[in-house]
Amino acid sequence: MKYETLRKEIVTACQEMNRRGINQGTSGNISIRVKEGFLLTPSGIAYDEMKPADIVLMKPDATHEGRCRPSSEWRFHHALMTTRPEIGSVVHTHAMFATTLSCLGMEIPAVHYMVAAAGGHNIRCAPYATFGTQETADNAVKALKDRNACLLANHGMIVVGPNLKKTMWLAVEVETLAAQYWRALQVGKPNILSKAEIDRTIERFKTYGQGKEPAPACC
Ligand code: 13P
Ligand code: ZN
Repeated sequence: MKYETLRKEIVTACQEMNRRGINQGTSGNISIRVKEGFLLTPSGIAYDEMKPADIVLMKPDATHEGRCRPSSEWRFHHALMTTRPEIGSVVHTHAMFATTLSCLGMEIPAVHYMVAAAGGHNIRCAPYATFGTQETADNAVKALKDRNACLLANHGMIVVGPNLKKTMWLAVEVETLAAQYWRALQVGKPNILSKAEIDRTIERFKTYGQGKEPAPACC
């Protein structure tokens, strides 16, 4: 089977999303770029029942190969892969805190310096549109301009990155930020860091750590 290792990585990452508490049920979907297009999770298959052969190969012309129907959200995976050549992987989840903020139509401001890991001083919330539509895809591309993460109103989050490992890492960070922001809001009015401070943080991330994975997806 072509791309067997990558297909297995996607299935493992799907199970990992649920195990780490950033998703549940058959919600969410994952893609990885390959030469012919991108590999994408099938629609509506429980992650503990998903097999590597269920992963679909989507082509640039929006046709697909494989025994399963692609994720109902193939349009935003396709739009992001097409318009952002640097993206190697897209992860979508209905994580609890990120989704809670999205239900309030709230963005995540610079409530913690780690917001810089998503590429800027905020994580925007895209307006609501019915799941699986081109409108959702268009809204997501816009909300992700100069960013690697966004919320989708009344729905969840989308995270992008150069590879699946970094993208999964960022999905967990975004959910952590959402939880911290939500908790801070219960007590008072959080202090928001300035744009200049977030710019400094983005610069500093470039030399953070050992130069090994996972470094922030922004850098
Ligand atoms: P799929 O199972 O079709 O990927 O749909 C899940 C989802 O999260 C829709 O937004
Ligand atoms: Zn969804």
